[in-house]
Amino acid sequence: MEIFKEMQKRGHEQVIFNYDKASGLKAIIAIHDTTLGPALGGCRMLPYSSEDAALEDVLRLSEGMTYKAAAAGLDFGGGKAVIVGDPATEKTEAMFRALGRFIETLHGRFSTGEDVGTTGDDFVYSLRETKHLVGLPEAYGGAGDTGDITAVGVINAMHAALMYRFGTPSLEGRKIAIQGLGKVGYHVAKRAVEEGASVVAADINPQLVGKTVSELGVEPADPWAILETECDVLAPCALGNVVNEDTIEKFRCEIVAGSANNQLKDLTYGDRLQARGITYAPDFITNAGGLIQVADEVQGYRSERVQHQVDNIYDLLLNIFHKAEATGRSTVAIAMQIVEERLSLYHAIHRIYTQSP
Ligand code: NAD
Repeated sequence: MEIFKEMQKRGHEQVIFNYDKASGLKAIIAIHDTTLGPALGGCRMLPYSSEDAALEDVLRLSEGMTYKAAAAGLDFGGGKAVIVGDPATEKTEAMFRALGRFIETLHGRFSTGEDVGTTGDDFVYSLRETKHLVGLPEAYGGAGDTGDITAVGVINAMHAALMYRFGTPSLEGRKIAIQGLGKVGYHVAKRAVEEGASVVAADINPQLVGKTVSELGVEPADPWAILETECDVLAPCALGNVVNEDTIEKFRCEIVAGSANNQLKDLTYGDRLQARGITYAPDFITNAGGLIQVADEVQGYRSERVQHQVDNIYDLLLNIFHKAEATGRSTVAIAMQIVEERLSLYHAIHRIYTQSP
């Protein structure tokens, strides 16, 4: 990959490769845009097939964080970290402490926490080396896991899309297909069942499927067929790129609203979903609950404030759906316009000189 070319294309400020020979840590930190404030974004750990794959992931994810923070009205920039390694077998205290020390060198330009393949407990080790961490367990001063609050945002997005399509936000009697039953997907399933939806769900981890089926009574599905399920709402809650050339014609849903980051292979798939009559709730708005919670930790966590901001996802999306219809543009194009407006507003306001930065 031509790194500067890629940074220029996506608008990145900084990409940092971190290697620690003692622990074997290999991590990449990408800071996309700090117009709105210090960069915030989770740290993934995955056994990436190549360094290019890890770099591509961190560049794409950090860019998405800028949009997510801007659309949610947060004064934070976008960043992300990835650790190259197998989270099931390769995690060590030394690795997460080394990561903490590298984050400390950035003096607050970037804060991180759990993401796919990592948990708040891993960062308890990093906390011994840096305070620029979020999403820590409550016993360590954090607000805890972000899975459920992200699920609350996803359910709000479903309500908005159902309201737009059917004139009622109710999930009662609606069929919801969920791909991925991890930290977010499980809570989406639980909340949807509690609201009277009929849930069909899949995960490549059979233990998670077994747990969700026995606890919630959802219908299990084949992980490879879940995207083709006939349903009202398809909720991608696993990894990205689910809307691509191979899948787009196979969807049999009215709405796509889930937590996965970067659901569209590229932004043209927003138009293609629109052309197929499928209402797409842009992922970086739908899944902002976790970011809203961790951003709130930085200023002193208050659950009521977080709940209020996550409730705004409903109004924001309903507005986007109507605007997309009125202008003939895709929902994701309208969402990007909101992001751009916020970034320019910030630039304009910060022309005014004050003594503080
Ligand atoms: P997780 O790792 O806990 O869960 C992901 C689940 O998806 C795993 O159980 C995995 O087995 C499953 N999976 C992977 N590939 C699959 C496939 N092809 N079919 C079915 N299942 C598959 O992660 P999470 O925290 O629940 O996050 C899920 C998604 O939501 C990710 O894209 C993440 O970036 C995004 N997200 C998470 C948060 C959060 O607060 N946790 C916030 C915003 C966005």
